[in-house]
Amino acid sequence: MANLPFPSKRAPIYQDIPDEKWNSWRWQLSNRLNSAEDFEKVLNLTDSERRALNTQNLFRVDITPYYASLMDPNDTEDPIRKQVVPRDDEITPFTGMMEDSLAEDRHSPVPGLVHRYPDRVLMLVTTQCASYCRYCTRSRIVGDPTATFSRSEFEMQIDYLKRTPQVRDVLLSGGDPLVLAPKLLEELLSRLREIPHIEIIRIGSRVPVFMPQRVDDELCNMLQKYHPLWMNIHVNHPNEISAELAQATDRLTRAGIPLGNQAVLLAGVNDCVHIQRRLVQDLVRIRVRPYYLYQCDLVEGAGHFRTPVAKGIEIIEGLRGHTSGYAVPTYVVDAPGGGGKIPLMPNYQVTMSDHKIVLRNYEGYITTYEEPIEYRPHDPKTCAYCQNKRVEPGQSGLSGLLDGEEMFIKPEGFDQLHNRGGGAHRLRADDAKWKPLGIGSGSKDEA
Ligand SMILES: *Cc1c(COP(=O)(O)O)cnc(C)c1O
Repeated sequence: MANLPFPSKRAPIYQDIPDEKWNSWRWQLSNRLNSAEDFEKVLNLTDSERRALNTQNLFRVDITPYYASLMDPNDTEDPIRKQVVPRDDEITPFTGMMEDSLAEDRHSPVPGLVHRYPDRVLMLVTTQCASYCRYCTRSRIVGDPTATFSRSEFEMQIDYLKRTPQVRDVLLSGGDPLVLAPKLLEELLSRLREIPHIEIIRIGSRVPVFMPQRVDDELCNMLQKYHPLWMNIHVNHPNEISAELAQATDRLTRAGIPLGNQAVLLAGVNDCVHIQRRLVQDLVRIRVRPYYLYQCDLVEGAGHFRTPVAKGIEIIEGLRGHTSGYAVPTYVVDAPGGGGKIPLMPNYQVTMSDHKIVLRNYEGYITTYEEPIEYRPHDPKTCAYCQNKRVEPGQSGLSGLLDGEEMFIKPEGFDQLHNRGGGAHRLRADDAKWKPLGIGSGSKDEA
């Protein structure tokens, strides 16, 4: 690995901690900061922060000494501090907020499993994290120390997956799967790997960012037994990219795990094209591919982090073409009410007619693209993929047909979860339910 310039920091109060403690994830977990008194040792708290920390029923606070050390103790607007130290804005409600804004609970066939897309599921395996983000989408369930991993729920989840063969991708999230006891995480992965139709497993984790010490040889050796395994981490600001994080991502990629990043667009933290450009360029240096940039969800306590959607589009416009294509994430809004992730892009298509498209490039330069006069498309009638027949890897065309076999087998209860009619849908403001919009499906507009 080329010498990378990323710093390694320790707040003054931790200078005398022996390295073997500092580098131990167990020490980092058990020495987390969570009270005004703890924070006063590391930061100069503002009145607003002190008020929030002393409020009853606040969403859980916990910060590893490693992550706290990345903050500038004298900068009350520090982008790392704002992500994890509560301030009294958090106690202020805003109109439009929702407890379960993505309607995940409505798409749960069994507790802890969210089946919103046809071929993949989200599996919530713990409520615990290494530190807690103030804008957490799942603050309704995350952090509760009495609601940890449940074996009986896990068995129900495995059972659902076994009888749901169209699930080929399982995304472990929570909470943070990498705070589970190593043996328990391995048991989870090996049970999933016993199910033949599960092609890939993904882990969504902020542990490499909050507690890179956890990414040790023991963890990497265990994870690489369960390939194909992918991982998304969660970095929001270039100040989070440290020597320790770079070492953790190096270990994970050497273990063959492709890494992506899911960032959240946050007012006063990273709502700036220059910060985002530095972030995505530093991410590709540590071999992490920016995957999604999320619009902040409508979560209670997180109103002060929200930005206009135009800001996200402006950021993508300032990246695409201006830097490596590898470094450009997809900007998405996770639709309130459970519509899934919706990608948003700057508009590069000026006009379109029968044979010509007028386009603009990243510099604003206008160009005309001539469509082909004659187009002979492939024949769906002789295409095994179009005929909805299973095609085994390495086979193609009609030799791969297994007569009468369907690609998608619906499990019990799937229609009730997903049956919202065909074609495009529209969110109705009054009841936040999805209605057919009547484009392409031939159905009537009901509103
Ligand atoms: C984000 C998400 C996924 C994964 O979506 P991808 O676009 O494939 O990364 C799956 N299920 C749920 C419920 C999700 O929110």
